Amino acid sequence: MSRPVLLITGASAGIGAACARLAAERYDIALNYRSDQAGAEAVKADCETQGARVILCRADVSKPEDITAMFAQIDAEFAGLDALINNAGIVGQTARVTDLSYARMREMFDVNVIGAILVAKEAVLRMQARSKGAIVNISSAAARLGSANTYVDYAASKAAIETFSKGLSDEVCAQGIRVNALRPGIIETGIHAKGGDPDRAARFASSVPMQRTGSPEEVAKGVLWLLSDEASYVTGTVLDVTGGR
Ligand code: NAP
Repeated sequence: MSRPVLLITGASAGIGAACARLAAERYDIALNYRSDQAGAEAVKADCETQGARVILCRADVSKPEDITAMFAQIDAEFAGLDALINNAGIVGQTARVTDLSYARMREMFDVNVIGAILVAKEAVLRMQARSKGAIVNISSAAARLGSANTYVDYAASKAAIETFSKGLSDEVCAQGIRVNALRPGIIETGIHAKGGDPDRAARFASSVPMQRTGSPEEVAKGVLWLLSDEASYVTGTVLDVTGGR
């Protein structure tokens, strides 16, 4: 029997990679990444040991032409698209709003918001054709907290994705497509180092009510639950995976 097909953006590392490894037991996977070829290959190999068919889709989600090419590749390789984890995302260096540059804000919103919306749009077009599908957009606890003195632009980009998730859900849920968002809290991935603050997760652990950071695998379990039939009456909502933060 053929497996459902899942697209995960930003799956060469961190939360996206954990989602791929957890999903591989059940789904065939279109595994998107931007630059980390070695990371993507390693995740692919792990997924294949669980019987998944995996295609690697190198695409920068901030570039509309890359998204078009990625979906052309998916259309050529798979019979349809059943699920999407809209996960690719970036943070910036720690800064106050008065220090934010236009270029940084532009990139933040091009990747975290416009890229995610364009990917969701293409996914919905394919899901609508078969009147079924599930989408999880990865937000952040920052959308609630605002992230003052660190990255307010990032927090605002994640708030936008939550509002988008609710609106898209209302548009498509009667057609059999569920759309939810998930807010990770402070999760041990490479994103903090990429934002210039490698010790961030460890430093903030004591501010979490559970007194610890989360793992990418703990986030992946929530994401895969939202995609699954176990969540068949769950749409237009946001799930916190934040240790209580
Ligand atoms: P990560 O370890 O830095 O991984 C980010 C992934 O996104 C990588 O696979 C990266 O690909 C990909 N990516 C980045 N920009 C891209 C682009 N323009 N096009 C396509 N792929 C792109 O980050 P993470 O911590 O797993 O974060 C995943 C998601 O969770 C993000 O949306 C993030 O905002 C959210 N989140 C994370 C935390 C946390 O504490 N870690 C908390 C809340 C929310 P390449 O490396 O191949 O370029």
